[in-house]
Amino acid sequence: AAKGDGRGIHRFYSDDMLAGAKSRKQLEDDLRTAVSDGAFHLAYQPVVSTKTARIVGYEALIRWTHPTRGNVSPADFIPIAEESGLIEGIGEWVLRTACLEAARWPGDIRVAVNVSPIQFANPALPALVTSALAHSGIAPGRLELEITEGVFLDETQSSDQMFKALKGIGVRLALDDFGTGYSSLGYLRNAPFDKIKIDQSFVKGAAQSGNRNAAIIKAIVTLADTLGMETTAEGVEIQDEIDLIRDLGCSHIQGYVYGRPAPADEVLVQLGGQAGIAKPSGFKVSRSP
Ligand code: C2E
Ligand code: MG
Ligand code: MG
Ligand code: MG
Repeated sequence: AAKGDGRGIHRFYSDDMLAGAKSRKQLEDDLRTAVSDGAFHLAYQPVVSTKTARIVGYEALIRWTHPTRGNVSPADFIPIAEESGLIEGIGEWVLRTACLEAARWPGDIRVAVNVSPIQFANPALPALVTSALAHSGIAPGRLELEITEGVFLDETQSSDQMFKALKGIGVRLALDDFGTGYSSLGYLRNAPFDKIKIDQSFVKGAAQSGNRNAAIIKAIVTLADTLGMETTAEGVEIQDEIDLIRDLGCSHIQGYVYGRPAPADEVLVQLGGQAGIAKPSGFKVSRSP
């Protein structure tokens, strides 16, 4: 049917696109069984306080080892999971697993979990969060839910109620990737965020002279301070950026400079090694003393 008039319509059904559509469908099928197959695991990336230079928490990031393709990036498969409805089951697994693994950490170390706008639109989310907390036994204040501006795009449902319900449970809320996409300051007006995560695109190059990113970070930090929110700079990769980000007043830093996302067992090693760490400048997460 697509061949129709024979003039170029085949462009829309090129071999590449057919292959792309097929592999997308294949990925979706594979995603369907990945939870039960145990093909997912969580990697944890440290979040460090600029005041104390200590790890105060970890962000849980999903990892998928595909049986034939190897590691597939969440940037590639989360959108497919969202479009196919599979994100609900995957998201539940992430939340429960992150809470259970965090239960093995010291009681003052937080865990941050990414929550898709699709999950956020589901009235069952607060019950799931309550259940994950109860099964793991971690205090609600140790769990931080990271949401993106995407949760505000669906005008038909009120996000206010969901915010209230989640804050009622006592979990923390962070606005992820701030400054990208559909950023609007209006989102900050009523939403009860505890933290703004400044997107890594603003951190990139911020330490170079004449770069405007530093001014933008400064403005976001000033705004967050006034609203009583913490700020995490994402994607900090080098020492120069640590110093700048601290000088700009960000309360937290997350990035390769302090550690790449690592398996749960590595977290225990990092936290065990934290006792010996003291100096703000030049502080690095060491494997063990
Ligand atoms: P995100 O939530 O903004 O997570 C931060 C991403 O930045 C992670 O990529 C992390 O590995 C990467 N990153 C951290 N530090 C640095 C750095 O210094 N330099 C650079 N270049 N990158 C850094 P990752 O793990 O590939 O995740 C990509 C995105 O996929 C996440 O962005 C998040 O939107 C989504 N995602 C990951 N795990 C989950 C999950 O469990 N559920 C949902 N719904 N989405 C997830
Ligand atoms: Mg995140
Ligand atoms: Mg982010
Ligand atoms: Mg991101």
